Amino acid sequence: MKLFIAALGTETNTFSPIPTGRTAFLDDLYVEAEASRRSAHWFVGPLRVWREMAEAAGYAVVESLAAFAPPGGPTRRDVWEALRDRVLADLRAAGPVDMVLLNLHGAMVAETEDDCEGALVAAAREILGPSVTIGVELDLHCHLTDRIAAASDVLLTYKEYPHIDVDDRARDLFRLCDDARAGRIRPTIAVADCRMLAVWRTPNPPTRGFVDRMSAAEGRDGILSLSLAHGFPWADIPDVGAKVVAVTDGDPGLARRTADALARELWDMREATTDRLLTLDEAVAIALAPPEGVSVLADVSDNAGAGAASDSTVLLRALVEAGAARCAIGSFWDPVAVRLCREAGPGARLPLRIGGKTGPMSGDPVDLPVRVLGIVRDAVQTYGNGKQQMGDCALVEAGGLHILLNASRTQVFHPEAFEQFGVSLNDYATVFVKSAQHFNAAFAPRADRIHYVAVPGSANPDFAALRLPRAARPLWPIVADPF
Ligand SMILES: [Zn+2]
Repeated sequence: MKLFIAALGTETNTFSPIPTGRTAFLDDLYVEAEASRRSAHWFVGPLRVWREMAEAAGYAVVESLAAFAPPGGPTRRDVWEALRDRVLADLRAAGPVDMVLLNLHGAMVAETEDDCEGALVAAAREILGPSVTIGVELDLHCHLTDRIAAASDVLLTYKEYPHIDVDDRARDLFRLCDDARAGRIRPTIAVADCRMLAVWRTPNPPTRGFVDRMSAAEGRDGILSLSLAHGFPWADIPDVGAKVVAVTDGDPGLARRTADALARELWDMREATTDRLLTLDEAVAIALAPPEGVSVLADVSDNAGAGAASDSTVLLRALVEAGAARCAIGSFWDPVAVRLCREAGPGARLPLRIGGKTGPMSGDPVDLPVRVLGIVRDAVQTYGNGKQQMGDCALVEAGGLHILLNASRTQVFHPEAFEQFGVSLNDYATVFVKSAQHFNAAFAPRADRIHYVAVPGSANPDFAALRLPRAARPLWPIVADPF
């Protein structure tokens, strides 16, 4: 028996000012073969899981490309085509295979392709024919098109946001596809279109209960797998929006009814799952209030994990002007500032221009006299069971503010982003992180409270104001009733 595996992902924000070319992949994750043996990158997690399970079950494993670029603007046409062709060439070269498992994101848009993952899986199906089992794992922030569902035997997404279950879902996918290959089950997929643009934070009720009900229903009464694909709202493409996926054992009617019922349940929860986000003034007021433990505030609008630049100065400027103290903020993607700090050296004082370089959504740069508290070369932070590189980092002090700067664009996932400089989260009254939700997994156990802040930016969560002229149907909350 032979298993073919590959991983390809990025998340495309069509409003992002950051071009996605070849370097975006090379700098983050690009391993042409055997990444499961050579890379600690979190996106390689499913490949490691599949190799281990496959080898235990007696499969030979052919491992193709593993590539990931930080979320940004549309991927260049030549880059997308080269990535696609690499995987397909490896698949052809592998000869007859019994099973294919692909770890994809599901929200990758190229200059000439709105549905990269759907195109890739459909092309793989074309090569393999109908009898080879194809399983696909997607990030829940995917668009989930009919094309990818039609080309897959089993299709599932992560259930958790923050994505703490990437490897667990990989295990589910292996088991289901191995059962399908062996003829023990006959998976059939239905997709329900929720026509919603929203963010669902899965630790919070009532979303928590929704996820738990999906998990509890799996593996009984013919239901094999249930996923809520949250969708990725910052993409002006026809399939933008949330979808529910139901996979049943040989019962298309059950799959349809189950997916539709979950979509209705989600719709009925829409007011209760809508975020209460702080304004700029409310966030600054918290930074100025007498400290009681550690407050962590997320600058969701400048989340690199949603394709924003991560160099917006909107909050920084307000905190400087207000004279906030015992406050940390970051991470600013500013390779030039990091370079200047590195050259000046730890302990040096220098005038530093910070952030505001990428485009109008980043605000204006902030000029501050700073002291360099430390430099970390080739920094990494933990994300789930893997690692995410940050590039060279600098922590600088200006008044009562500690400002984290880094050279490889990424969101803050973990307190170690700050603590690798020898400071402690507990040194601060308020910590502002450029992240929408993934920070929550590692910060929540140590924070006294967490707030989400919405200021102008390329990942601003005012979905009612999003301009999506290419969306092929009405979407809530742009319209009150999309049905
Ligand atoms: Zn995601």
